[in-house]
Amino acid sequence: MNRKQSEHLYEEALKHIVGGVNSPSRSFKAVGGGAPVFMKRAQGAHFWDVDGNRYVDYLAAYGPIITGHAHPHVTKAIQEAAANGTLYGTPTELEIQLAAMLKDAIPSMDKVRFVNSGTEAVMTTIRVARAYTKRNKIIKFAGCYHGHSDLVLVAAGSGPSTLGIPDSAGIPASIAQEVITVPFNNAEALHEALKKWGDDVAAVMIEPIVGNFGMVMPKAGFLEDVCRLTRQYGALVIYDEVITAFRFHYGSTQTYAGLANHDLIKPDLTALGKIIGGGLPIGAYGGSKEIMEQVAPLGPAYQAGTMAGNPASISAGIACLEVLQGKGIYEEMERLTLKLTKGLAESASRYEVQLTINQIRGSFSTHFCDHPVTNYDESQDTDGEAFGAFFRAMLNRGVNLAPSKYEAWFLTTAHTEEDIDFTLEAADASFKEIST
Ligand code: PLP
Repeated sequence: MNRKQSEHLYEEALKHIVGGVNSPSRSFKAVGGGAPVFMKRAQGAHFWDVDGNRYVDYLAAYGPIITGHAHPHVTKAIQEAAANGTLYGTPTELEIQLAAMLKDAIPSMDKVRFVNSGTEAVMTTIRVARAYTKRNKIIKFAGCYHGHSDLVLVAAGSGPSTLGIPDSAGIPASIAQEVITVPFNNAEALHEALKKWGDDVAAVMIEPIVGNFGMVMPKAGFLEDVCRLTRQYGALVIYDEVITAFRFHYGSTQTYAGLANHDLIKPDLTALGKIIGGGLPIGAYGGSKEIMEQVAPLGPAYQAGTMAGNPASISAGIACLEVLQGKGIYEEMERLTLKLTKGLAESASRYEVQLTINQIRGSFSTHFCDHPVTNYDESQDTDGEAFGAFFRAMLNRGVNLAPSKYEAWFLTTAHTEEDIDFTLEAADASFKEIST
């Protein structure tokens, strides 16, 4: 596949943009390097690059594009919003509408506040939890990504209950010391950490279904344990649902049918982003009235935003959720995903490539290993080189995956049977290529 123009643009980008990309996950560093593909146009489940090559897309912009690219209903909403002025700096009726839609779908949220990204949403939930509990420490789970604010950018601990080490330069050790990292799916480790530091823990932050070291379900009873233990020590439970809300069904993890007792897994605060903005920048957080009343202008926890609640993002979010309310939407994504994962597993085994697939409704992750992946250690213990080779082989056959072994494949409402057949053909040839 000829990608000369992408290569040329990458050289140009390197002259002007640090690393040539505006988010490190877009670089191909983790899959053997080289020029990332410069896309020119996207429609439905497809991308076209600057050299005119077409790709079936499973990146979905790292999650938000669940209705496919340029969905007509979403596009119309954005066009109408833009024509009426993109930013007011005043409240609008649209914000009430989206907030009410989120509250209806996510019962633990009495009050909502819109921000501009998942990072901001998570960062603010931590501030609110600290304001409410008057404590400082946060417990997070190894390998869970919660955006790039200082506090949550802390290395996955090497063992249970390690005190944090900054994952990035520029984060003072004193901040990392406020974060305790424990392994996902390990309630005992959480309990140990709470026994040791519980009196100073403001919140336990979790991706209730993990999307950042592959797609990983909580084991039966794990979220119940997280909620029970956290409350036992007087801390708040924060669900980071930036990826997961509206991903598997119309709602959040708390109400996901695949998980048991909804009340026992109810968070105190929830952070949202991605899908709820229909492809435009957005974040939101919410929780009970009592906790949310910590936030300015009602309470002492300050949080603000020039762009927050802008009409274009809010309109796109409303339109996206309206599409997702359609009958059978999630079932169809799941049906196609099952066909795809079944075919991938068959091809991998045909060429004796070791592959573990973690599938949850319309999303899944592929781990090049022969063991289950239920936590970060197991996800790290997989063959990154094999993934890199598979990634490149798929790209050369017109299938766009995220350039990292940890990222998920996302189906959208725009993927068709034909796209799946095309992908399976590409995958069969790719597994064959990497196995020889
Ligand atoms: N939380 C989770 C679970 C995420 O996956 C991400 C981004 O991938 C974030 C937070 C940060 O969101 P954003 O990139 O919009 O700042």
